Amino acid sequence: MRLVLERALLPDGIADDVVVEIEDGRFTSVTAPGLERNSRGAVAAREFRSTRLTGDSDRDSDRLPGLTLPGLANTHSHAFHRALRGRTQRERGTFWTWREQMYAVAGRLDPDSYFALARAAYREMVAAGYTGVAEFHYVHHRPDGRPYDDPAAMSRALVAAAAEAGIRLTLLPTLYSSSGFGEPVEPEQERFRHQRAEDLLALADGLKDDDRTRIGLAAHSVRAVAPDQLATLAADGRLLHVHLSEQRAENDGCRAAYGVTPTRLLADAGALGPRTTVVHATHLTDEDVALLGDSGTTVSMCPTTERDLGDGIGPARRLRDAGCPVTVGSDSQAVVDPFEELRAVELGERLATQARGHWTARELVDAGADHRALGFPDAGAIEVGARADLVTIDTGSVRTAGTGAAEETAVFAATAADVTRVMVDGRVVFRRGDDEAIGRELATAIEELLS
Ligand SMILES: [Zn+2]
Repeated sequence: MRLVLERALLPDGIADDVVVEIEDGRFTSVTAPGLERNSRGAVAAREFRSTRLTGDSDRDSDRLPGLTLPGLANTHSHAFHRALRGRTQRERGTFWTWREQMYAVAGRLDPDSYFALARAAYREMVAAGYTGVAEFHYVHHRPDGRPYDDPAAMSRALVAAAAEAGIRLTLLPTLYSSSGFGEPVEPEQERFRHQRAEDLLALADGLKDDDRTRIGLAAHSVRAVAPDQLATLAADGRLLHVHLSEQRAENDGCRAAYGVTPTRLLADAGALGPRTTVVHATHLTDEDVALLGDSGTTVSMCPTTERDLGDGIGPARRLRDAGCPVTVGSDSQAVVDPFEELRAVELGERLATQARGHWTARELVDAGADHRALGFPDAGAIEVGARADLVTIDTGSVRTAGTGAAEETAVFAATAADVTRVMVDGRVVFRRGDDEAIGRELATAIEELLS
């Protein structure tokens, strides 16, 4: 397959009239006659005259108008939370409104409804420009806590949902043993519970990697998993994700129980390092930042969820400067829009510091396209050998017109609604116009679940 990208974001910069060739889901050739460098060696983007897309004119053409980006990575998702959007904001949307609704939805899921909801949620993600997702999956058992006949039935529902939606999936079966620092789980948490790491590893062992699926592990948090169990998960060698210091109460509880911060607890359990992704990392000490950075631990910031839940603003720039790859996740699905997520990283820091200019747009796009936390280091760049993921945005929409069709357009002007076409592993999985059907699918899945 041969495509001409009107304008594209390549590793070296923005280029026009980029010709890409794709075989077996990978780029075999990337030619960029339009790439220009200035005297300092930096790439100088030419002034760009955006062409407004009309209807389906690109449908049968090999020329993609607009600005094409590498595929974006969603490094933290709970697919079923999509059923909570809007509903948890009722009566001012307190934390308790959210918690009550979350448990109500979790309590209704079965393998069929989980599949239907996750497929629709993953289709929304693909339509927004995410080409891979890490699913932090903790609804394992029947509502009363008894395993399904196939103990991995809920996991398999997610794998099947992602395959049908066309998104790569990094499934993270999650260990959840306690309602908080050794306390037994509450009744509504029984379906989340494995008491020991070995039980979770047995579940993971029953699932298989393939070219588009990775099976990793997660520990819910230092609240829900004891230090010795964290150490067992970390020693397994798979990818490991864990919620970290999302709210101050977790830090206080951890100090009371163990005398250390959650980050120090993870470090002592051998759970930090390049295979680990910590999610949120909102409330950290200077020592925590150094531990995460020195170990090369990835951070998943989820700013649209963190602001929805009132968590706070994490030190993304400091973490990056300390050595952490910083990525983004849609987490609670309050918003599914990688562009909004990326600009929120910068805009949150502006609010917190009362100063502009923490991240460049290019740094943010690169953060968004970092697929290493998903176990797909070969995705996220338009270059020879990489997985052929392409996300094209309209540069002439009411939001993006006149913004220069550069990285700043993607991060500071575009929304998910400007995505016109998405390719994953060489396969087109979304075209503008598909969104109406995705909306209907979401509505049906959520109505059936809640009825
Ligand atoms: Zn989460």
